[in-house]
Amino acid sequence: MGADNYNQDVSQVFRGHVFHVAGSTGLEDAKESLVAIPNGQVLVNEAGRITACGPRDDAAIPAGASIVEAPFVLPGLIDTHVHFPQLYAMDRYGGGQLLEWLDRCIFPAEARLADPAYGAVAAADFTDALARAGTTCALVFGSQFPVAQEALFHALSARGLRAIVGRTSMVLGPEALTTSIAENLRQCRDEIDRWHPAPDDLEESLLRAALIPRFALSFDQDGLRAFGELWEEMRERNVHFSTHLSENARPGDGEVAQVLATFGVEAYLDVYASFLSERSVFAHAVHCTDAEYTRLAAAGCGIAHCPTSQLFLGSGTMPMRRVRDHGVRMGLGTDWGAGDDDSIAQVANASAKVHGGADHPTSLHPAELLHLATLGGARVLRLDHRIGNLDAGKDADLVLVDPGRHPPLARRLSRIGAETTDDASVLFALLMGMGRDTIARTVVRGRTVYEADTR
Ligand SMILES: [Zn+2]
Repeated sequence: MGADNYNQDVSQVFRGHVFHVAGSTGLEDAKESLVAIPNGQVLVNEAGRITACGPRDDAAIPAGASIVEAPFVLPGLIDTHVHFPQLYAMDRYGGGQLLEWLDRCIFPAEARLADPAYGAVAAADFTDALARAGTTCALVFGSQFPVAQEALFHALSARGLRAIVGRTSMVLGPEALTTSIAENLRQCRDEIDRWHPAPDDLEESLLRAALIPRFALSFDQDGLRAFGELWEEMRERNVHFSTHLSENARPGDGEVAQVLATFGVEAYLDVYASFLSERSVFAHAVHCTDAEYTRLAAAGCGIAHCPTSQLFLGSGTMPMRRVRDHGVRMGLGTDWGAGDDDSIAQVANASAKVHGGADHPTSLHPAELLHLATLGGARVLRLDHRIGNLDAGKDADLVLVDPGRHPPLARRLSRIGAETTDDASVLFALLMGMGRDTIARTVVRGRTVYEADTR
């Protein structure tokens, strides 16, 4: 690769062992599309776009470009499901499964964001936590309180993170978190008008709005119908839709049983029939029927797969192979605070473990794990033309990983490197071991949004 291949406006170079899943491939082709460049570099121009990704080549670098080196360079991690108001809510003890845990642990925690000062601190901490975890893009379930949402949008904007955010709407539930359907719709409309970019700015804006009814049981039939009408209008503006689907199947009184009984439907997905679109992301979808996965795939919907959360709340295991075979797009979600780790790499780690058994006899290939954590998430969010890998032309959303920040991991990787040249083995060890503490730098569209203290 010679100098002619590079734009001369290259202003930054990120060097290290580069891994990414190239192209616009789905999960099924991740293995064939894995790119591994042991001594690689990613060139980024003034606009924050990748102009080239390839082997290290000093001759290709214009004078004055800054060069940053790290042991590993990966695409930015993408969290397709995370809850802002649950930031301080990792207190499951006594919580039970999903519905009890919501009542006992989560609703009281989310109600605290009514306090503007508390909400402002939470917004700053939440934004910081994303950047530190190497998350460059997130689909965020927000607060019910406009003042907290305002703080969150401002904090994300100031930090320069990429996010799709919506207030978590509820009509039914504890008084502190619910309002009338009319007031819910008004607040959603206000938030979207205020923060969702105009059509001409949509491509360049890092922030977008989403319409997020919490889940079916937070609504009655009339409420969901009214949300469906608002969605019809908002989807024209490329607003995203997200909610929870089929998470807890405890017989008799679990979430799925209650939804079927309350709404008188045969399948959970029937209650969301007006919300199926290419910009619709359903969290969990653990207990869906084949017919439901077929409908999700046909409508182009995505699933936010949250295995750490499903382990935490005893919700079961999403049938990864069935979902993949149905052709449903999948990304990973931390689902913080039901998920107990804010690192998408650690959610990939959990995916490797929960899908290593009967559901997936051959277990997930490291390239599939990387796909789920990066390009898969971008495909779920319909942002894969801009982010998700290190292809030239994409925005430079990337993470630099330094296993040396956790010496046992560094030594493990160095031993593997000495024993084999198999890229998959190195990538697997990296993904299994990396977490928040090994992120050296997080970059969104060429701008550093987090840099670890130098040791
Ligand atoms: Zn959730």
